[in-house]
Amino acid sequence: MVSDIINTNELHKVDPVFGQLSFDNHEQVVFCNDKDTGLKAIIGIHNTVLGPALGGTRMWQYNNEWEALNDALRLSRGMTFKAAITGLNLGGGKAVIIGNAKTQKTPALMRKFGEFVNSLSGRYITAEDVGMETADMDIVREVTPYVTGISESKGGAGNPSPITAYGVFMGMKAAAKYKFGSDVLEDKVVYVQGIGHVGEALVAHLSNEGAKVIIADINEERLQAVSKTYGAKIYRGKDIYAEEMDVYAPCALGATINDSSIYKLKAHVIAGAANNQLQDEVKHGALLKDRGIAYAPDFLINAGGIINVYAELEGYGKAEIMRKTENIYNTTLEIFKHSEENNSTTHNAALSIALDRIETRKKEANK
Ligand code: NAD
Repeated sequence: MVSDIINTNELHKVDPVFGQLSFDNHEQVVFCNDKDTGLKAIIGIHNTVLGPALGGTRMWQYNNEWEALNDALRLSRGMTFKAAITGLNLGGGKAVIIGNAKTQKTPALMRKFGEFVNSLSGRYITAEDVGMETADMDIVREVTPYVTGISESKGGAGNPSPITAYGVFMGMKAAAKYKFGSDVLEDKVVYVQGIGHVGEALVAHLSNEGAKVIIADINEERLQAVSKTYGAKIYRGKDIYAEEMDVYAPCALGATINDSSIYKLKAHVIAGAANNQLQDEVKHGALLKDRGIAYAPDFLINAGGIINVYAELEGYGKAEIMRKTENIYNTTLEIFKHSEENNSTTHNAALSIALDRIETRKKEANK
């Protein structure tokens, strides 16, 4: 399993919540428990300076509660910076539900989760993430207005994944422009790791452009289906990171760029949808830079989904969603330029712009 946190043994040695490595001055962390439905969830509210904390709910069979907590902390922090760099008036939050989405997710559990979200009175607004469908958000909507990503038939903007994939495609093209001098992906070898909601839609864009797409997933059924639909080659090797490729697109879970993978990576560009791709943002960001690998920051290029759900709150339509998502191309190019000019990693370049926006808003509010 790809997990955002690798060494869980270490986690037990530090203080339970505020002492976690992933704790980054989060404003609020809520533990939700309901014996009857079996719900065990953690909601992380990282920062609400720019607006209410918005971020999806992930349902995953974590190895233990530490992993779940750290996922909630890391993911909610990422949402703060994603909203900030995208220019949205939203804070960062995220929820995780501990359990198997295929076997343990029930309408009653989703409704109970919605009640917990509702109890936060809008400080946290949820949406879908891994293990969640639009239909699940429709159930949450029965008990709280603080949910986005609901069906179009119910007044929502629908599944955000295709828009997320389009934004990733835009970010990938910008990274290619920076690295190869052209944003045309035709004939480029692109490995898409994880062909779920976002990964599959990304494969569609890449195939249309004539890229040589290779797909990897732990779900054999999906591999067969996506390969058949788009003519993508299925990866059957043992070590994806050691393969020759132009672009590596992580679209499963986070932390795949870590101590074990980073020295093997032969990709020239990394651009994918997964949140928190760098296990250690500072160390692995710097190593990518040293190795000349153009890394398009995840929280910048996977913002299409949040742009899409934000439309539900702000009431803007599809044309504006597409315009904002397309703009990820320009922002990504700016980040590469900024990182070169300031000799910083692309991750830090994006982070510093996001932090500046939050600080400015804080100062304005305190005037
Ligand atoms: P999903 O659950 O639909 O797809 C994830 C896919 O990854 C599944 O097919 C799963 O089998 C596969 N997978 C899991 N572990 C794997 C492994 N070790 N190797 C290969 N494949 C593996 O999720 P999604 O909605 O497509 O999201 C994908 C990623 O993008 C997640 O990290 C999510 O947080 C991020 N993201 C999604 C959105 C969105 O709009 N859905 C927005 C921003 C970021």
